[in-house]
This record gives sequence, C-alpha cells and structure tokens, in this order.
Amino acid sequence: MGKVELTIDEATGMFLHVATGMQASQDVLTQADKAIGDGDHGIGMARGFAAVQAKLEASPPPTMADLLKTTGMTLLTSIGGASGVIFGTLYRGGARNLTAITVFNSETLSRMLTDGLAAVQDRGKASRGDKTMVDALAPAATQAGEMAAAPLNEALPAVAEAARLGMEATKAMIAATGKARALGPRAIGYADPGALSMYLILDFMAQYVTMGE
Ligand code: ADP
Ligand code: MG
Repeated sequence: MGKVELTIDEATGMFLHVATGMQASQDVLTQADKAIGDGDHGIGMARGFAAVQAKLEASPPPTMADLLKTTGMTLLTSIGGASGVIFGTLYRGGARNLTAITVFNSETLSRMLTDGLAAVQDRGKASRGDKTMVDALAPAATQAGEMAAAPLNEALPAVAEAARLGMEATKAMIAATGKARALGPRAIGYADPGALSMYLILDFMAQYVTMGE
C-alpha cells in the first residue's frame, strides 16, 4: 500500500531510501559530470549520502526540521565542491518552516521544496535556464505547490516527473554558471548533472511512498 503521509520514522526511512539510491547512482552521475564538468559529481553525492545514511542510522532525528537540518548539514560538510553547498542549502533551507510540523505530507513537501529553492537561489544566484539543478527543482516546487492537498503517494510521483522534465530540458541549455559554463554551446545535448541528482532524489522519495502499489 502506498503512503498518503509519513510519520517522522517513516520520513527518516524515506531519506534513508534516497541515501541508498544516490549511492547506487554514483556511476550515472559521474558520467553526466564527465560529459560537461570535471567528473566529481558522482563520487561527491555518493560520499555525501553515505554520510547521511550513517548519521540517520546512528541518531534518528526527533523532528521533521531536525531530519532536514541534519541531512543538509551532513551533505554540506561531506560533499565539497559546488554541489555540497547547493544540496546542503536545499535541505537546510527546506527546514525553515517545518519547526512545528510533525507529519510529512504533500504540504510538508511543498514547503520543503519552495523554501529550499529560495535558499538555493539566494546562495547560488542561478535562475531557471542557467543549466543547474534549479531547472529541475523549480518545476518540482511548482508542482508540489499545486498538489499540496493531494495524498503524498500521488503528489511525489508527479513532482518527480516535473523534475525529470526539467532535467531533460537542461540538455538544450547553455550553462550560465558552474564548470559547464566554459564549454558554451558544446554543453548542448548533455543534461546538467545536478539537475539529474535533483530528479533522482525526488524519484527515490516517490519510490518509497508508492512501494507495494
Ligand atoms: P563542481 O561544479 O564543484 O565540480 P559538482 O560537480 O559536484 O561540483 O556539482 C555540479 C552541479 O552543481 C551542477 O551540475 C549544478 O547543477 C550545480 N550547481 C553549480 N553551481 C550552482 C549554482 N550557482 N546554483 C545551483 N546549482 C549549481
Ligand atoms: Mg563536478
């Protein structure tokens, strides 16, 4: 049976599922970054999410805000490079309005993505169209806002699909920031590695809430 909303223990389980999935995605992320960057994105994300897994297993967070803050802080301190700051900021920023929240439902998801997006853009100054993870995150946040009242097992697959389409759209873009910027039009045809990570994170979340359906 799919899950319409999650307790803190289940939300931690979902984050652990993401952590496992991102470690298993190391090679595909490496290939993506080798095409238009320096090739370190896969190893960085795998290292970051291995650290998240260890942290969450050692001390399960008591609240939703703690879950996001711990995940963000761990990514920030263990990945390095641009994506450590960016994905760390996504989770830490996403915790902003979750202090009193005790369930992870579609409303929680919407807040997390909307606040996370604002924090990422505040920090990294990338806009949509710059060929970054923002191009996957922004449409995902919009979709989550539209489905904030829907069951989580309906919202998350739609949100992940919005991120996938956003990631696919980065193939046609020239990078305005990051390592791919130096390539100019030669980056066309390749997806942004961070956008691929953003889609995968949401897809692993969607997998967790639809398991058994
Ligand atoms: P580095 O660029 O330091 O090698 P990674 O390869 O781990 O770091 O991550 C690159 C990804 O980080 C890019 O694909 C992009 O999605 C993301 N990124 C880089 N700069 C920014 C930014 N200013 N805003 C949002 N995302 C960014
Ligand atoms: Mg890189």
